[in-house]
Amino acid sequence: MLTPGFSSMSMSMAPWSAYTASGSLGSQGASSAGVGPRITFPLPMGLGMAPGSFPMAMGMLPLSLPQEGGGFGVVAPARPVHPHAYVTLGAGMRQKEVDMFTAEHPLEGYSGVTGERQERVVPYHMPSSAHPVGSSILLLAGFGFISRMYGLSVDNVVEIEMVLADGRIVIVSEDSDPDLWWAIRGAGPAFGIATRYKVRAFPVPVVFAGNLIYRFHRATAASLIKHVRDCIKGAPRELYANVLLTAGPADKDSLVVVQMCYVGSKEQGMEYLNAISSWDGERCLLNEVNEKSYLAQQDSVAQILRGKGQSAIFNESDVTSNRSGSMLAGRQWFIRSSLIHSLPDDIINQTVIQFSNTPIGCTWIFELSGGAIADFEDTPIPKEQREAVWTVAALHQWEMGIDDPRCIESAEEWIDGTIGKVALGGPFPSFIGRHEPPSRTIACFGKNWARLTELKRKYDPGCFFKNNFWPLDKNGQPVEPLSNEPPSPSP
Ligand SMILES: Cc1cc2nc3c(=O)[nH]c(=O)nc-3n(C[C@H](O)[C@H](O)[C@H](O)COP(=O)(O)OP(=O)(O)OC[C@H]3O[C@@H](n4cnc5c(N)ncnc54)[C@H](O)[C@@H]3O)c2cc1C
Repeated sequence: MLTPGFSSMSMSMAPWSAYTASGSLGSQGASSAGVGPRITFPLPMGLGMAPGSFPMAMGMLPLSLPQEGGGFGVVAPARPVHPHAYVTLGAGMRQKEVDMFTAEHPLEGYSGVTGERQERVVPYHMPSSAHPVGSSILLLAGFGFISRMYGLSVDNVVEIEMVLADGRIVIVSEDSDPDLWWAIRGAGPAFGIATRYKVRAFPVPVVFAGNLIYRFHRATAASLIKHVRDCIKGAPRELYANVLLTAGPADKDSLVVVQMCYVGSKEQGMEYLNAISSWDGERCLLNEVNEKSYLAQQDSVAQILRGKGQSAIFNESDVTSNRSGSMLAGRQWFIRSSLIHSLPDDIINQTVIQFSNTPIGCTWIFELSGGAIADFEDTPIPKEQREAVWTVAALHQWEMGIDDPRCIESAEEWIDGTIGKVALGGPFPSFIGRHEPPSRTIACFGKNWARLTELKRKYDPGCFFKNNFWPLDKNGQPVEPLSNEPPSPSP
């Protein structure tokens, strides 16, 4: 069912965008956020720091008028009517554009204030990574704040329009071609070019989320990481949490950031904030965990990763002007990731020692994984990787034109050397970078690699689709890293 009045708005954004609702939960079907609309205010700066002195939203929370529905920093406390909706998008859309679109088109729900059924009060979001990434996560995994509740992005795609190696344009779904459907939800770029996706989106009326920020000290950081690990052990699926170490910018302290996102109200998520913030090994520089819209939370990673020379103030006009997603342009990235079942003390201790020698622009992150991710099996991403408790990543960014080998070497040494001791094969495929050796790409798929190679022979025998997700040539021989895709253009 196409919800009346939505199609013309969506057409103005992208030819394929549409938004439909399905099913009905009734009034008992989902948890209540239980708070009224609210205004958020600028935080006092404190700490003697000028706006923009940290590479993240240190200065302000968004100021917005009270209203129910979607939007950055706007709390939508209503209870949902539908268990999920469907969002249809063209393959060129970025996550941010999709989240903004669905937040701007909330569906009906029961008011958290009056209990009455109202139109346009509950925003729905498809499970995806945080901003700033594009929609190829729908072919490659896609891990984010609501994955522990609803699974990866690939677990929620229900239909993909794709151009195959023989030139056919097909609409692939579970029923139309089970083999191809299995292969493209994890190794999609090796099988075709997606042009349109249909994806489940779930109601996210409010999240209790944000960052706790501490200075990085080599003597105390390990204690904080262990504390966070112990606080979130056995947490419910509603809770996402990470702890990250981020180096620089120049002349500034490195930081430890604990990020949490509880899908629910402050009342429900407070026990986790209380537990995490009880660590007293260092002064907490900023605690900005609060009720907010999921959309605002989705943009928080981009805020943390923002490079120098960018505004660090997080407000609505910034976000709107960044619809193109170009705010991280001009920098180059190196990503290395892994999945692990346990995070022993000695790995944490070693991580902190290694991190204290990384160059500016390096971010190392431990994210709580598991939950609903392990409920899905019918994709090339193996069960063992799905059951991982942590996803770990080194996200290194530096200026185009600067050639600092430490940006790459330090990530490789940490992920391959230190984290490698407890790693479960490869990472989720969406974290595979261009520089990966064939063995790491193959390790993403574990025992499913044999079936994938059979299907590659069936659907693309001439290896027409060449990229880092298919590290073999048409004769089945490994190809050198980087030779499958052209290098980044020079600045
Ligand atoms: C700063 C940063 C943070 C990240 N955080 C997360 C995270 O939280 N969770 C997560 O899961 N991942 C994360 N990633 C990894 C990210 O998901 C991958 O880099 C992902 O591939 C990005 O999607 P994209 O569409 O921008 O990719 P692109 O770089 O455009 O493409 C990636 C690959 O997919 C292929 N491809 C692109 N579009 C299509 C298409 N329509 N059809 C077929 N093939 C296509 C390309 O050829 C390429 O091989 C992060 C990456 C960065 C840089």
